[in-house]
Amino acid sequence: MPLEFLRRKGNGTRASKDAPPLPVAPPQPVPEEAVAQDHQLRLNYAAKTSTGVRLQGGPNVLNTLGHMLDGLATSDVEVVPPREATLTVASPQIVHTQEAGEWLRAHGDASPITRHALYVLELLDAIDPAYDTFASALLDGDVDTSGYPEYSSIVGGVAAHWDEATGDLIVRGVVGWGGRGTRGDTDRTANRLLGRLLGNILETSGSLGLTAVDRPGAAPGGPTVMCQHCFYPNVHPRAVYCPKCGMRMIHA
Ligand SMILES: [Zn+2]
Repeated sequence: MPLEFLRRKGNGTRASKDAPPLPVAPPQPVPEEAVAQDHQLRLNYAAKTSTGVRLQGGPNVLNTLGHMLDGLATSDVEVVPPREATLTVASPQIVHTQEAGEWLRAHGDASPITRHALYVLELLDAIDPAYDTFASALLDGDVDTSGYPEYSSIVGGVAAHWDEATGDLIVRGVVGWGGRGTRGDTDRTANRLLGRLLGNILETSGSLGLTAVDRPGAAPGGPTVMCQHCFYPNVHPRAVYCPKCGMRMIHA
């Protein structure tokens, strides 16, 4: 009797022919809509960038970037050079595995604070690590037990690229924050920090004052040339200097 055998095994007790039959629920009508349990996550990231400041170009000017965070950084300052030109599709998007893989090759060894800063600021297009040199630190708030900034902590510093026309260094203040939450006063704190960063940049020796400079490189889809020195592929065809490495372009 296979049915007896199954029943005995199923409920773990010895089934008896005398046991009352289990009540059988009447068949349920098929619902038109499923009863949904909602799952939702709101992530909130924000960034602010200042006007650019023109700094006299030269071999040592990049070394001044870290000092522009003096009095503001509450962690070590890390200076991140632009990404190698071979990492062409790097992007901090984990489901785009090739992009994420390149991004980790470029930035995986950076500190948690720097990685958080790069993640937020690149996601929001506030910096472009393809050509920006970025000096950053924790500027406000705390880190969690793993060393990553809390959502209300502010990270950032200065981002710099070379002016394609003059070879000067263009430096701007950059701050960012965010994650699983928001706080009302973060925006105000970020504005205050950005102002102090801009002040530090302007006080740096070699500062030539505020400047309005468009993003380097040709218009999207327009013709570009490759830098002969660092192989950055996105240089404007009439650029005199490479925005990434600052070397003089050689035009045929
Ligand atoms: Zn270059």
